[in-house]
Amino acid sequence: MTRAGIGFDSHRLAAGRRLVIGGVEIPHELGLEGHSDADVLTHAVIDAMLGAAGLGDIGEHYPDDQERWRDADSVGLLELALESVLERGFRLVNVDCTLLMESPKLAPHRTAIRGRLADALGVEAERVNVKASTGERIGFVGRGEGVAALAIVTLTEPG
Ligand SMILES: [Zn+2]
Repeated sequence: MTRAGIGFDSHRLAAGRRLVIGGVEIPHELGLEGHSDADVLTHAVIDAMLGAAGLGDIGEHYPDDQERWRDADSVGLLELALESVLERGFRLVNVDCTLLMESPKLAPHRTAIRGRLADALGVEAERVNVKASTGERIGFVGRGEGVAALAIVTLTEPG
């Protein structure tokens, strides 16, 4: 039997911050604001994975009021989340995710992001799909105020 989980995250764009998407730093004049590195795509994947395993959400596991997670590398958090999922006997089937970002274009970085996430998850890149869309110049994404991400993770049940 398989189980699916959904994840959503968004972060505000701000000056003086790095733009880290799926563990890959993208050169841009604005970055994402947050307690950790604010890697919106990785956060959505973590939430989807925790959701599929019935383990709550990222905020419970890595609270943003805790000093130890300040500027945390979110791929490191993904590895921790994966560990607790594998420990319970689940196995990762696939990840699919969509990044909603007006600019810059994600296409030149997509292969690197896919590889980085697949590496962290210990699976072949073909099990991790990364898509991108814009906000069509409407809403907070379209106005360039922030970036959002959606993810779905499928796991096989222990047994
Ligand atoms: Zn986040």
